[in-house]
Amino acid sequence: MASRRPGAIARCADVADVQNAVRTAADLGILTAVRCGGHSLAGFGTCDGGLVIDLSRLRQVEVDATTRRAKFAGGCLLGTVDSATQRHGLVFPAGVVSHTGAGGLVLGGGTGWLTRLHGLSCDNVVGFTIVAADGSLLRASESDNAELFWALRGGGGNFGVVTEFEVRLHPLTSVLLASSYCHQDDTKRVLQDWREFMPGAPDELKWNISVVLAPNDDRAPEEIRGKPALSLSVVWFGDEAEGVRHVNRIFSIGKQFNRKKESISYLALQTMADADFPRGRRYYTKSGYFQELTDSVIESMVEASASIPAQNTQIELAYLGGAAGRVGASETAFGDRSAPFIMNLLADWKDSADDAANISWVRNVFSVLRPSMKPGVYVNFMSGDEQERVPEAYQERWERLVKVKTHYDPKNFFRLNQNIPPRTGA
Ligand SMILES: Cc1cc2nc3c(=O)[nH]c(=O)nc-3n(C[C@H](O)[C@H](O)[C@H](O)COP(=O)(O)OP(=O)(O)OC[C@H]3O[C@@H](n4cnc5c(N)ncnc54)[C@H](O)[C@@H]3O)c2cc1C
Repeated sequence: MASRRPGAIARCADVADVQNAVRTAADLGILTAVRCGGHSLAGFGTCDGGLVIDLSRLRQVEVDATTRRAKFAGGCLLGTVDSATQRHGLVFPAGVVSHTGAGGLVLGGGTGWLTRLHGLSCDNVVGFTIVAADGSLLRASESDNAELFWALRGGGGNFGVVTEFEVRLHPLTSVLLASSYCHQDDTKRVLQDWREFMPGAPDELKWNISVVLAPNDDRAPEEIRGKPALSLSVVWFGDEAEGVRHVNRIFSIGKQFNRKKESISYLALQTMADADFPRGRRYYTKSGYFQELTDSVIESMVEASASIPAQNTQIELAYLGGAAGRVGASETAFGDRSAPFIMNLLADWKDSADDAANISWVRNVFSVLRPSMKPGVYVNFMSGDEQERVPEAYQERWERLVKVKTHYDPKNFFRLNQNIPPRTGA
């Protein structure tokens, strides 16, 4: 979906290489992309004809188990960070697919299984080391360049190349994982239960739901294979007996099948979805927030499920709240935390011949649901055709972000991102 051919790739081996690449490209006025894991749905990790600053050789991780802090380099994948921190029985809250780049994920915010218990990834950052647009190396923390520190927690790749993240860690080695599918007839009932239960749920519980097509194999009863269904995923981080009680209650709502419940290692949790997102597939997303999941929103989702155009295309739903929801709106640049229901329309297919069907399904469902949504969007779930929604992502934080951008990158050198243009323009 983002097939581009840069003129040159700088495979930086250290911070000085990054500084040289930035200075050279800025002096010559070369269009420059910064690439960590290359998972940007909009294709911002590459460009046509310009320079790619490839951070994939910068993957060092240093863990201090005593202070429960880690420093990891700007090119790390989530899996690199997880394997280093798990050697000490510690975790850094991040996303759910281990080959995602930590760089792009953390700078945009970072949601995952631990979001309700420990906050967004960006809420757990205590300092950044960053190469700015003039090639200088800066530190951003509560005490150094505090406005930049604020902007980097959610503002994406707009402000420079982060060469090191310093983060807080938390103890955790295993979790209770449960999953099931729910029959189409009970979709409405399960979604209603979910919306009523989640606002009072303990932070230790992460219960995600997707509106999907039931698997086309023996995981589903024959009569509903490939037909609309719900996929339920529950992760519990607390006392096992209490977790089992929650899971059993969830399993008892309506007709569910392929019910599974097991205690697994944190590394197994973090890699279990890896194979579902192989490189080379085609993806398109549109995302938004709901303050309430009304019956009419649920009905629209059920209706949309009847026309899902590809086996893996789906409506992903998550409930924010918890630790992430308690961080004040102005504490970080990350967008709205007050609307707790997050929806991501995710189209995922194989052949370019099916582009139009998948993309138009996402756009149509989005336009049906849009009037019921609260303005706002998570920048890391945006596709490349939604630049006009970037101010919507930040809302009352927008002007402050423009000010920080204007100060640190007045010529908009870092513009292959969900862009915040500087006031002076480029
Ligand atoms: C399969 C898959 C699973 C995902 N799962 C989750 C999830 O669980 N939770 C979630 O929150 N998001 C998730 N996302 C979205 C993800 O957060 C974004 O796509 C993110 O931008 C990926 O970062 P990256 O480093 O891999 O991407 P890249 O394409 O390398 O970069 C993305 C953007 O970040 C900038 N950037 C990257 N590293 C740096 C750096 N060190 N310094 C400065 N700028 C940098 C780039 O310039 C670019 O603008 C997922 C995406 C995919 C494709």
